[in-house]
Formats: sequence, structure tokens, C-alpha cells
Amino acid sequence: MIEIYCVLFFICGLIFGSFFNVVGLRVPKKQSISYPGSHCPNCQHDLAWFELIPVFSYLFLRGKCRSCHTKISPLYPIMEAITGLLFAFTFYKLGFSIELIASLFFISLLVIITVSDIAYMIIPDKVLLIFLIIFIIIRYFQPLYPWWDSIVGGIIGFSVLYIIALISRGGMGGGDIKLFFVIGVILGTKPVLFTLFFASFLGAIYGIGLKLLGKFRKGTPIPFGPFISISAVVSYFYAHIIIDWYLNLFI
Ligand SMILES: [Zn+2]
Repeated sequence: MIEIYCVLFFICGLIFGSFFNVVGLRVPKKQSISYPGSHCPNCQHDLAWFELIPVFSYLFLRGKCRSCHTKISPLYPIMEAITGLLFAFTFYKLGFSIELIASLFFISLLVIITVSDIAYMIIPDKVLLIFLIIFIIIRYFQPLYPWWDSIVGGIIGFSVLYIIALISRGGMGGGDIKLFFVIGVILGTKPVLFTLFFASFLGAIYGIGLKLLGKFRKGTPIPFGPFISISAVVSYFYAHIIIDWYLNLFI
């Protein structure tokens, strides 16, 4: 039975992922998320129903607009597939529970800000604010232990990032700082710190990778949002296990 639900959550994730692409690409440009309908950004050709099927349309169209043959960004199907997989995984881990609602919203936020950060290097305030309100409501009904860890987590996440931004002088965007407040509210203190640690680690590996490939350019900003998102998901499911394991090494 659980397999059927996982498949359903996967399909829902694909559809929502497609919607999150739209939100992530339109909200920073202050465009409506409902009007106009999806169209090719190059030739404005309105997409027919069979061009709107998550992942499959991209494969079927071989990554090109049907009308003008401009390449479609692989970011669309990738984010759809990731959302589908994460929705299925989170149901598999949590089953039907209030925490499932928290995790689905959390994944939604992270997918949206990943899209907008990759596309524009922006994490929109509007998106952060809406999700912050949702998370406060969820953590009221499904509190962390102790309940005030949401408040402490938010403040610590925000403060540590703020200090890093001051020291690095612009190495960290304002959106990243506010995002860590929101992550702290949903995850609590230890996991939010783990998120920062792991995101920095992934960012460093990416930087080294670029250097080895000779693609590193000094002064070119790298969007930190995708690394934060990957780390936040890992942290959501595994931070406590990883932290306990690490601390046990010293006992
Ligand atoms: Zn086109």
C-alpha cells in the first residue's frame, strides 16, 4: 500500500515542481504566477497541454521549443524530478502526519528559492515571508522539543549568517541571511547550524571543482541558495543522527 502512496506523492511532486519553477522564475520579476499561462520565453508560443507534462514533455520535445526550436533550460525537468523524488521520500519517511505537512512545505520553499537563486541570484522576501507564516503555524501545532527551539533556531541561524556577512563583506546575500531564520524556525538550533556547516562544505567543494576545471573566476558570485537547500534537506532528515554519531566519537 505504501508504494502506491509513494507513487502518488511522486506524481504530485512533479506537478508541484512544475508550479515551483513558475513561482521561482516569476515572483522575483514581480509577475503574476497565474497569468499569462506558460509560454516559450523566446517566441512567446503558448504551451499546449502535452507540452506542460512535467519531465516527460521535456524529453518528448528533446529539450527544444516546438515552435522556435530554442533550447529549453534543463533546470525545469531537473527541479520537477527532484521535487517528485523528495515528495515521495518524505512520505516514505514520515507517513501521514502533521510533520509530513511541515516537510512538504519545507521542500517546496527550498525548491522555489533554488530556482530563483540560480536564475537571478535572488531569494524573494515575499516567498520567505509566506513560508515563515506557514512554518510558525505548523510549529505551533507540531512543536519542536523544546518548543522554543524554533525561536532560538531562527535567531541563531539569522545571527550567525549576519555575522558572516559582516566579516565577508557581501560574500553572503541578504536573502541567505533571512532564509536561515526561516530554516531555524522549522529545524531548530542544532540542525540549522549543521545546515550552515554542510552548505559551506558543499560550496567549497563546488569552488574547488570550478578551479580544477579552470572555470573559476574571482569576483563572480556563486548562488549559495542551491547548497543551502541541499544541506537543509539532509539536515531535516539526518542532522540529529549525524550530530549524535559525531558526538559519540568523543565519548
Ligand atoms: Zn519558442
